[in-house]
Amino acid sequence: MYRTHDCNSLRKSDIGKQVALAGWVNVTRDHGGVIFIDLRDREGLTQIVFRPEENAQLAKQAHTLRSEDVIQVSGHVAARLPGTENPNLATGDIEIIPSELKILNRADDLPFPIDAEPHNEDLRMTHRYYDLRRPRFARNLRLRHIAAKATRDYLDSQGYVEVETPILSKSTPEGARDFLVPSRITPGKFYALPQAPQQYKQLLMVAGVEKYFQIAKCFRDEDLRADRQPEFTQIDIEASFVTPEDIFAVTEGMLAAIFKAARNFEIKVPFDRLTYREAVDRYGSDKPDRRFAMELVDLGEIFRESSFKVFRNALDAGGVVKAINANGFAGITIGQADELTEIAKLYGAKGLAFIKIENGEWKSPIVKFFTDAEKAALQSKLNIQEGDCIFFGADKWETACKVLGRLRLRVAEMQDLLGRAGPVRAGQASSAPEWDFLWVTDFPLFEWSPEENKWNAMHHPFTRPKAEDMTLFEEKKFPEVRAEAYDIVLNGVEIGGGSMRIYEPELQDKMFETLGISPENRQTQFGHLLRALHLGAPPHGGIALGLDRLVMLIAGEQSIRDVMHALLVSREDIEGLANFLGQRYELLGFSAHCIDGSTLTTKTAKELLDFDNRNDRRIDEIRLEFQQTDFSERGDIEFSDEAFRVCSWTVWSNDDGLAQQIASELGKRVRASRPWYSWITWARPMFIFPALLMLLGVAITWHDFFKTGRLPSMERKTPRLWRRLHPTYSHISCSWCVHILRRKSLELDVPQALVPDRSSKTRV
Ligand code: ASP
Repeated sequence: MYRTHDCNSLRKSDIGKQVALAGWVNVTRDHGGVIFIDLRDREGLTQIVFRPEENAQLAKQAHTLRSEDVIQVSGHVAARLPGTENPNLATGDIEIIPSELKILNRADDLPFPIDAEPHNEDLRMTHRYYDLRRPRFARNLRLRHIAAKATRDYLDSQGYVEVETPILSKSTPEGARDFLVPSRITPGKFYALPQAPQQYKQLLMVAGVEKYFQIAKCFRDEDLRADRQPEFTQIDIEASFVTPEDIFAVTEGMLAAIFKAARNFEIKVPFDRLTYREAVDRYGSDKPDRRFAMELVDLGEIFRESSFKVFRNALDAGGVVKAINANGFAGITIGQADELTEIAKLYGAKGLAFIKIENGEWKSPIVKFFTDAEKAALQSKLNIQEGDCIFFGADKWETACKVLGRLRLRVAEMQDLLGRAGPVRAGQASSAPEWDFLWVTDFPLFEWSPEENKWNAMHHPFTRPKAEDMTLFEEKKFPEVRAEAYDIVLNGVEIGGGSMRIYEPELQDKMFETLGISPENRQTQFGHLLRALHLGAPPHGGIALGLDRLVMLIAGEQSIRDVMHALLVSREDIEGLANFLGQRYELLGFSAHCIDGSTLTTKTAKELLDFDNRNDRRIDEIRLEFQQTDFSERGDIEFSDEAFRVCSWTVWSNDDGLAQQIASELGKRVRASRPWYSWITWARPMFIFPALLMLLGVAITWHDFFKTGRLPSMERKTPRLWRRLHPTYSHISCSWCVHILRRKSLELDVPQALVPDRSSKTRV
């Protein structure tokens, strides 16, 4: 047995007990020969005291200890000397007087001190095992465990069944970019990793599971951000015969259980609700942070007749004039004003108008355009006080709201309105609980993508239109159709979203049609779902919550990487991992080779492929890839129509060495089976010299022409053979150049060539 107790459990009542502890040396202190060691394990710290007068041998051994060495200590529990107790430590009344010390393992030089907060994230991630050993992260991982357990317990109590859905799945056209996994059985084909178990959970509803949940891994090949990782975890829920109210209730109950377990905090249910329209109108965002007010105020009425062109034009064009009042922000610096102007421009405004109220005066170049009546109306509508700063937005509704929404958040940061909740302990009550939960409902069903010139689903293609808006959908008034979709927002962070799904095959088909998915693609890509909907699909709906973001907020962290065992933080990490995988593919026999365009007839190529038929089970497949040769297309050198250029061949085998061997053997065969005319291709380098000569000839000709004003006579000056070959040379040298250029692009990059390039924002 390594230990009898953990490092956080011994108290006064244990004094005199014989104990054994094991853990890491947190700190060592040498007080005039007496060595104090704080021994740490995941539960806490216990002090060990080595006194030379009690055990000289042990004290000597303890002298060699350094931070993060792993040790085991046996001894008895003693009271600390009066006055040396540490009230900040749970074990602060006692210490261990050791009788035995075992050094289980030594630690080398540390990448950074364990109690430091290194800013170098790469360093942290390189030594992630060490980073996670820090108490803060150990605590975060346990908070995550508590949250996951509370989730399972609660959903189980409500009759939800946890079902695992497949990881190797099919790529579908909607959504973010997929991660692909090469298939060994069918080389050159790829599985996709699921971006979410959306279709699987819907199929489970058709299967009659009725109440499903899963703590599911999802994969989206998206850029890294503080709250986004390529692989992340969702609490995924789906239920049959439900309305949005049912989903709201189960989600609220589950969150209440999670917060109770993780923070010992009772959250207030039911949560407030805002429609998408209201949220954007009042906060300039579909995930409003309502912990501070600074709402967007509509000023259309006040400025309808304004002589200030910018406002008047926006209103005349059917747009809006809106403003936010940043209380006490009149002291805005030039740097801050510049930054806010940049933000406004980034989100589509032409500039940023603002008024500072200082010493009773309204300071801004735009004030001179306001009448007294307008000023008075503005004053009362925005409740303007001394020291305030008003920011305006005048544009189309969406743009003005979006710009002011962004400014609102940045100004709040500048004014430090949100504070920074520090990391917390598991089970610790929130000190100033500002958990603002909010449902945002009635999202638009579609959003227009100018780049793709088509409608995309705002949530995903399986979301149903609101019953009231079905006629608008039929009438193809797409911008006005609202979805039966909802998001859940916590403190301005979207922690989840879901919808009621389409369960009628005809409606689903119409939806695909609206999204521009052709009838063939509907069948190949979504045929399984459409068939399932034809087989008695019940009405159903659900939601998915991001577990990482939720735990990040519960733990008071700023990045999801602080609450997960993240591996990918930078482009280098991804490259490193991808290289590593690249090598593994090679070992799996995923090898590709290029040759520079040997010309073969189809007949010989077919013969070559017989290579494939050898009865060696270690070879999975051999594949030749052809490209019609340029020469035969041009027709000016008469090759057989059947002439092809082999541009690459690939050998798949689970034995890398064998794959290499076969590949080079195949190369020999390719070369050996060249038809007689392939020498032209093969011997192309021989034409470089004549081609250069030809160019030189042309240069000399022109030079002579400019000098003498006459073209030199070909008849007299050029040798007969040269005159004959001249056109052929030109042609061959051109082909050769083209070939060299193309050859570059022949270098195979299999994964890249096969990764679908999609960047639509909708989720599936
Ligand atoms: N599958 C959706 C998502 O990942 C959520 C849902 O509609 O349930 O966002």
